[in-house]
Amino acid sequence: MPRVALVVTGRLEFRGLAPALERAFPGVAFSVAPSLMADQLFDSTSARVDPARQARDAAEGNTPKIDELVEHLAGNLCGRDPARVSVLVEDLELANRGNEQNVVQAMRASVERHVAAVAARRDGTRDLADRLRERASFHLFDPMVEAYFYDDPAALHTAQGGLGRPAHRIGGRDAERLTVDAAADPGYFAEVGECPRHRRPKDRRCPWGGDGRREHPKKYLKYLCREAPPNEFCSTYVETTGGADALAGLDWSAVLAPPGSAPFLRALVEDLADALGQPPEIRDWPDAPTSLAPTARFRAPRTRVLRNL
Ligand SMILES: [Zn+2]
Repeated sequence: MPRVALVVTGRLEFRGLAPALERAFPGVAFSVAPSLMADQLFDSTSARVDPARQARDAAEGNTPKIDELVEHLAGNLCGRDPARVSVLVEDLELANRGNEQNVVQAMRASVERHVAAVAARRDGTRDLADRLRERASFHLFDPMVEAYFYDDPAALHTAQGGLGRPAHRIGGRDAERLTVDAAADPGYFAEVGECPRHRRPKDRRCPWGGDGRREHPKKYLKYLCREAPPNEFCSTYVETTGGADALAGLDWSAVLAPPGSAPFLRALVEDLADALGQPPEIRDWPDAPTSLAPTARFRAPRTRVLRNL
């Protein structure tokens, strides 16, 4: 059975992404190395990505977070039991809206640094650059994985732990452009108070407070899972249970059957279908790739460093 090794940076994806992809690609084993959680990998996209700063940091010996992720991505293709395909999946995050090309450029630069570092080692894998170019990919959820739950009522229900609260979105927008309908759900935009049940001040912050609520799938999900007074600024949403179960059971057709929908998620599935030589079990899946995301494999430059970049 072909094996795909995943590198992820969130606890939700750590638990939920492999089972989700196994339902889209039956007969393929997806796995996340258990060591990844122990390593406490931190995502590289929580702040706005700046490739020039990362290059400076690397030159000064301060390893950028992205380089640690690339080391895992490459490691999956080396050693005694290499995977057929290795894929790193991160959240784009709202902070990188409009900055997608820099995120892609930062990943390419990091792969080039890693290949050069391994080539300089006496025992380094000789053909690592070829392995990465043919068998490794970098993909993004836009802006984060919770976005896709809103196109799948069952997933949204699971993520809420069965609360069944309706989500109010502006209609006609793609899952990757979720916008909360402020007129239909004004409570979400109201000023927030503290969660009184927590002791430490930093835990008392309302989980959907702050800026950027309108387009933030995770903050809105936390709001949908708000508790009753006096804890009305607390949320029952738990990424590692409700969130992970929602992803594990995601109805891929609900999200990806509409032509051209969810371009970043589509780019991941198109790339895997190509790498595995197997179309996904998704209704009305087109024969030719259609994703217009900058991570789409068929849009990659001729001088690729990964399958899709
Ligand atoms: Zn709370």
